Amino acid sequence: MNLSPPFGPTESPRKVLLIDDSELDRRLVRYRLGVENLELFEAPDGRMGLELCRSNPPDLVLLDLGLPDCDGFEILRQLKDEPTTSAVPVILLSASTLPADKARGLDLGAVDFVSKPFDPIELRARIRVALRTKFLQDLLEQRAHLDGLTGLANRLALEERLICEWAVILRQGGPLAVWIADIDNFKRINDLYGHTAGDEVLRAAGVALRSSVRASDFVARYGGEEFVVIAPQCDLTNALIRAEDFRSRLERTSIPFDKSLIQVTASIGVAAVPEASSPGPLDLLTYADHALYEAKSDGRNQVKCWQRRNGVVGVNGHGNGKYVVTG
Ligand code: GH3
Ligand code: MG
Ligand code: MG
Repeated sequence: MNLSPPFGPTESPRKVLLIDDSELDRRLVRYRLGVENLELFEAPDGRMGLELCRSNPPDLVLLDLGLPDCDGFEILRQLKDEPTTSAVPVILLSASTLPADKARGLDLGAVDFVSKPFDPIELRARIRVALRTKFLQDLLEQRAHLDGLTGLANRLALEERLICEWAVILRQGGPLAVWIADIDNFKRINDLYGHTAGDEVLRAAGVALRSSVRASDFVARYGGEEFVVIAPQCDLTNALIRAEDFRSRLERTSIPFDKSLIQVTASIGVAAVPEASSPGPLDLLTYADHALYEAKSDGRNQVKCWQRRNGVVGVNGHGNGKYVVTG
């Protein structure tokens, strides 16, 4: 997702893929778009166009309708059907001037339709509009998945990711762990130092959490002072080690605010498959939440996990630095 604005000579050029069988037309488009800040790729037929689009999705596709190997409408349909290419805007560039063709293309998901012979000023303007709209869509999409305070993923993004990771383990197997960390007595921080200080603590906790997990782990702010980690290919033992690493790291962190140094702790609930025998992705989160509840009840500042052991399903482990799983 390219989130720098698509305009201005200092911005990185936008990638445009031109799928057109006519060498003459491609040359003309290349020449007419030369003044724009664009990087033009070319494909002389539909098959190569699809391949290029899949392997290196461009910012925009200019698609001819009359292709030698395949109808342009069919290429458009395939582009819109595939998750890797569906969001790429497509402008149809065709010799047809038939309203029925224009309507069909737009209904199939093209963002615009330009008839040949094209006016270069108009084509360039329409490309700029398509890129600007895509830029704003990407920005909206990104904002809808971000937590504004910490810059971490938000709850919506977390749930979507958990469902994706679940689909991966159903396909490929392998462990999957989640943990929920909840700041202890956070209300007191707000009461004692004020809401702005509370916000600073949340940001610092987010940074500490991000730096105690792997780059491939997914970290989200789940709610007020709750954070969730999704760790693919991580079994329960490793998840406990890493959750404990975060717990002790946070305990040792002093968060400067105004003239104070604020210290906080967190309670953490962990659940992982296969140990938790979770029937679905959101249940795994619920099990981690049960373990978190036990960590809170048992005195806070500790890590507990949810697992099936000796035929009994429930919360195991005890904290204050220990996370030994008891059977
Ligand atoms: P426990 O140890 O049981 O988790 O107690 P707690 O005080 O941390 O939990 P509780 O749920 O009682 O209070 C959470 C508080 O977090 C209440 C709410 O005002 C505050 N909070 C939620 N979101 C934000 C936020 O974005 N910023 C700040 N500063 N405070 C928030
Ligand atoms: Mg709390
Ligand atoms: Mg809470």
